[in-house]
Amino acid sequence: MALTPLSQALPQILATIQSSPDTETVTLADASGRYAAEAVRSSMAVPPADNSAMDGYAVRAQDVPGDLVVSQRIPAGQAPVSLAPGTAARIFTGAEIPAGADAVILQEDAEPLSESVRLPAAREGQHIRRRGSDIQAGDQLIATGRCLQPQDIGLLASVGINEIEVYRPLRVAMLTTGDELREPGSDGLEPGEIFNSNRFSLAAQVRALGMSVTDLGNYPDEPELIGEALERAAATSDCVITAGGVSVGEEDHVRGQIELRGTLSLWKLAIKPGKPLAFGDVAGTPIFGLPGNPVSAWITFALVAKPWLIRRQGGSAEPLPRFPVQADFQMPRPGGREEFLRVRLSGSGTAMRASLTGSQSSGVLSSVSEADAVAVIPPDTTVKEGDWVEVIPLWALLSPAFGQAH
Ligand code: AMP
Ligand code: MG
Repeated sequence: MALTPLSQALPQILATIQSSPDTETVTLADASGRYAAEAVRSSMAVPPADNSAMDGYAVRAQDVPGDLVVSQRIPAGQAPVSLAPGTAARIFTGAEIPAGADAVILQEDAEPLSESVRLPAAREGQHIRRRGSDIQAGDQLIATGRCLQPQDIGLLASVGINEIEVYRPLRVAMLTTGDELREPGSDGLEPGEIFNSNRFSLAAQVRALGMSVTDLGNYPDEPELIGEALERAAATSDCVITAGGVSVGEEDHVRGQIELRGTLSLWKLAIKPGKPLAFGDVAGTPIFGLPGNPVSAWITFALVAKPWLIRRQGGSAEPLPRFPVQADFQMPRPGGREEFLRVRLSGSGTAMRASLTGSQSSGVLSSVSEADAVAVIPPDTTVKEGDWVEVIPLWALLSPAFGQAH
């Protein structure tokens, strides 16, 4: 079976999404990290009125320079009266500009006299924040599908909105497979055993998207038990995610059980780590069968399952950001697959460099934990030290706001 580039496989996997997502209304306190289910427009201008950017004196520019009587005092929050011609108003940051005034003079530039204040010349409009200079009535603030960021929450609040319609979090059911797996917390391993890590790293990745996890635990390599678990998982979730049991070994039963109880398309992705990936449905519920090797599971979740889950929930994530840095490593032999190397970044600006964090084996989690980015090396490419390579920062790879790599 030929290997499929990720850039071809992912659009096909995403194209299977048909169901329309559910929505709910939340208050701003619960809206951060959620995907907007409505486009939001402002019904008002921000600022709602011209106001002072500084502490000082509001004047008519044509009245200065000169000594002016102070005819009113305007703290923030107080409505001013019209400025009497030939006078100044004492004004503070954020206070509304009185009608008739067209400039603010800094208090540092003013010299208070006994009956008046001596003011220098002023340019019309100086230190005035204009009505609507931030937002005009009718402006769109939030697009449907946007993953709401803290600053978006502030923006909504600034126009007086306190709730927003968002998509309901998906319910993701998860299980791992393997006779060799023991749960962390149990003491000691028998010969041949290892601790189950995928169950925890994958659940954490799902939760980082704001989705809920039903954790069905680990199942031994027995077809019936795995099959029944898949059906239980499918019955209570929007999507099932498994790890392990999808390669072509005799003990790899996830694949067979998906085929038996639903439909299966098996992908051999042209990416490293992470070749085999099962996608399909069990009893109508979509399922991702991720590879068992911990780094393969971690990266195929991030590159394939994550964009799918976001879109299925209703979100529209931005493409993953990539930027060029210089390699502090070499890759003398070209690989046939697109490689995602675990790297640590150093330096800044155009002098940024990427060095490998250690073994790139698909079972080695320590080098993932030490990485802050993955370098994306196209197939059939060699890398010399000093060559420019593209990196995707891990904060974006794992973030609910970013989706596809291509
Ligand atoms: P499999 O795809 O089931 O053949 O597993 C491939 C490799 O990943 C084997 O070395 C497994 O022991 C390992 N592996 C599978 N599942 C897990 C898991 N949940 N946690 C840690 N290692 C795993
Ligand atoms: Mg296995």
